[in-house]
Amino acid sequence: MIFDRDKQFELEDQFLASYAVKSKNSKGRKHPESEDFMRTPFQKDRDRIIHSRSFRRLKMKTQVFVAHHGDHYRTRLTHTLEATQISRDIARSLGLNEDLAEAVTLAHDLGHTPFGHAGEEALNELLKPFELSFEHNEQSRRIVEELEQVYPDFHGLNLTHEVRQGLMKHQTPWDQKNNHFEGASLEAQVVNLSDEIAYNNHDVDDGLRSGLITENQLQNLPIWQAATEKVTQTYGEIKDQTIHRARTVSKMIGLMIQDLIEASNPEKNLICFSPQVATWNKELKDFLADNFYFHPEVLALSKRGQQIIQDLFANYHQSPNHLPKEDQQAISTGVPLEIVIKDYIAGMTDEFAEAERERITSL
Ligand code: MG
Repeated sequence: MIFDRDKQFELEDQFLASYAVKSKNSKGRKHPESEDFMRTPFQKDRDRIIHSRSFRRLKMKTQVFVAHHGDHYRTRLTHTLEATQISRDIARSLGLNEDLAEAVTLAHDLGHTPFGHAGEEALNELLKPFELSFEHNEQSRRIVEELEQVYPDFHGLNLTHEVRQGLMKHQTPWDQKNNHFEGASLEAQVVNLSDEIAYNNHDVDDGLRSGLITENQLQNLPIWQAATEKVTQTYGEIKDQTIHRARTVSKMIGLMIQDLIEASNPEKNLICFSPQVATWNKELKDFLADNFYFHPEVLALSKRGQQIIQDLFANYHQSPNHLPKEDQQAISTGVPLEIVIKDYIAGMTDEFAEAERERITSL
């Protein structure tokens, strides 16, 4: 038996909850196209995102700077994969459309600049004098609607309305605008909180690995206490620090996922933590901000990244001929110089940005 698209539509009707977004009800794509005989529209979107150039560049973009570079720290790519795993688990448990949640999560960070949020802030500041701004959600939308160019007749990936909506509704405390979360699909809300669960927990893991934060500091946090208690119940006392860290972080993720599944009220269009875990999560976030994201060593590296972005912007602005040929062409067809520079810098990986500064300043 072949589980073609129509069969999958049938299975969705059978197995998804009434409040899930059904693939067969998708509002479709901006540029009409014939649909696949095997895949649902959201599965098709997922594949387009994974095969895009912007997705591949996530592997070399910083999530949080850590003083000691190493093979085991998260990048935007591994963050994206972890967040996707969490959103799929939650979507499945709530009877939501796992394919939609997967596609939105895979694309949710495509618009990030090099050098993490420090890079985003720097680029935003540089654009202000030109009455422009930079915001990574808006840039994710721009990437999938404009900048990816893989079709002869139109720009962008021509994703479904639902996936594009999910990207716009994606909102984290870092986000500066688009404060309208109302009307977001349940799947998009799941993505939003899965992103938080992923980064809060892996930042604890990376923070501990780097030595910039310690387990002692975490001991006052109720979420850490609850997780260590469960770990001790299961394994007894774990002497090896690396194993203890791994089990505790894993347990924190599990606690948050389970709480979210139990506390959410999909009938009322609400995906949320219980009040207790929401407070624990907020305390964890505040802890990470104070002790990790604003750690002097992290700040020094953030500043360095910002300087690279400032140097690149100033150089291209003064000498647009340092931009790639296709960008120079875009300028000649009327795209404003600052927008071309913004898109080019935003798309860079950390390493490329650094190498590019070397190259253009020695021209
Ligand atoms: Mg994210």
